[in-house]
Amino acid sequence: MNTAARADSLIAALRAALGDAAVLVTEDTSPDTLARHLVDWRGRYRGQARAIVRPASADQVATAVRLCSAHGVSIVPQGGNTGLVGGGVPDATGTQVVLHLGRLNKVLAVDADNLSMTVEAGCTLAQVQAAAAQAGLLFPLSLASEGSCTIGGNLATNAGGTQVLRYGTARQLCLGLQVVTARGEVLDMLRSLRKDNTGYALRDLYIGSEGTLGIITAATVGLHPRPRGLCTALVTCTTLEAAVALLAATRAALDAWLTAFEVMGALPLKLVQRHLPQAAQVAQTVSLGDDGMWLVLIEVTSARSEQDASEALEHALATALGEGLVSQAVVAHSDAQRQAMWGLREAIPLAEKSEGLMVKHDIGMPTSAVPGFVATTGQTIAARWPGAQVVCFGHLGDGNLHYNVQPPPEAASGDALQAFEGEVNAVVFDAVQVRGGTLSAEHGIGVLRRAELARRTPAVALQTMHAIKQALDPDGVLNPGRVLMG
Ligand SMILES: Cc1cc2nc3c(=O)[nH]c(=O)nc-3n(C[C@H](O)[C@H](O)[C@H](O)COP(=O)(O)OP(=O)(O)OC[C@H]3O[C@@H](n4cnc5c(N)ncnc54)[C@H](O)[C@@H]3O)c2cc1C
Repeated sequence: MNTAARADSLIAALRAALGDAAVLVTEDTSPDTLARHLVDWRGRYRGQARAIVRPASADQVATAVRLCSAHGVSIVPQGGNTGLVGGGVPDATGTQVVLHLGRLNKVLAVDADNLSMTVEAGCTLAQVQAAAAQAGLLFPLSLASEGSCTIGGNLATNAGGTQVLRYGTARQLCLGLQVVTARGEVLDMLRSLRKDNTGYALRDLYIGSEGTLGIITAATVGLHPRPRGLCTALVTCTTLEAAVALLAATRAALDAWLTAFEVMGALPLKLVQRHLPQAAQVAQTVSLGDDGMWLVLIEVTSARSEQDASEALEHALATALGEGLVSQAVVAHSDAQRQAMWGLREAIPLAEKSEGLMVKHDIGMPTSAVPGFVATTGQTIAARWPGAQVVCFGHLGDGNLHYNVQPPPEAASGDALQAFEGEVNAVVFDAVQVRGGTLSAEHGIGVLRRAELARRTPAVALQTMHAIKQALDPDGVLNPGRVLMG
């Protein structure tokens, strides 16, 4: 059978097994629907697919995998398509199948006594949070994309977000998984145990594997008690060193009460002012002074009461003001003010999108190394590309920075942009590497970082990764060319 005949035979087999409505093909699908599946959130990766397949159960996922495998067609698993490294959209060949998990969207069980909940992979993160809230509990994973991203995608990318400092990444919040393997078998590991030392940690192998080892169809996640008190503040620090010292001081004073510690440089705030002025209004309550200053969003929770949370934060901030770590502080006194503070932080990626193309980095390093990294890397970039601008913000509490570089006008497109990107990446990743950091703290590798991963990972680690891929997906059916090259 030639390639076209094989593809037609696959579509017919998928339709017979899953129903006509579950298999979308380019010829009879609207361009808008196609774009949702074929173009990534940043508009950087645009692919083509032979079909978009929308199974409604784990068994249907398994059937689709077996059929694709038998026809020699590779699969790109897709959740909310909010990933930022190009891992969830197909390549340009038009031969791949996008396997969209959106119809697996049921909350299967809530066990309030065990603080756990089992959900299908296509539930949006917001849906999972709401189901936990309905049971009087908290699912603390929180990302700006939570209305669209799915819990399957969160686990496949081991997503981080704004509360990692207190609750950990998606991996730490996952107790059990159900996965469809590359051979089309349903591997059921949907246990809700907090201690389980039986053999290799298969669950953890699939978490963060970005759809290259298996397709996540359901998960059992751990829940937490809902805090009774919450207090949020925006503060300014004159230097990044002061912000890092403030982090250490608030940690020492508040320990597990500290749930978020986000930092924003002056330039990201200017972008929000320019493109989303409404969201920037809250920043007027603290004046940033000069460009060297940093804005920090701090959030504290209490298991007891609102008053407890605000007293704890106000006390910590008063001490920090006395010690000169903070120059100004505004504490939110209503839910609307708190939302406005978070709205400002979450508007940054959208403002960047409106501003235009940037060379983005999602890097991590020990928090103690952050000020040195920002100072020396900023100097190198300013010296080599005087017109470039650094947009720096992120989860300082986790040592995770979004360090994005806007090219100067002469390098804003075409070959010049490509050359600029390569050189800036080398500057940034070299500086990260000497500080014992990581080139991807939370977004993953996808297509965007696979060459860098291959270049900068020790040979033994890389060989072990290839051996795992070979063992679990010998025919390369699942998301080939993502994470690992070739
Ligand atoms: C505005 C904005 C803010 C963001 N903020 C954060 C943040 O703070 N922290 C953070 O970590 N990320 C953030 N992200 C990135 C993104 O939202 C996360 O990576 C998210 O976890 C992706 O989920 P998704 O369902 O959209 O996955 P997709 O984008 O659909 O897929 C991502 C990867 O996972 C694979 N995949 C998806 N579903 C499955 C499945 N069920 N089984 C196996 N593989 C699967 C895909 O093949 C792909 O490789 C942000 C994105 C945006 C647009």
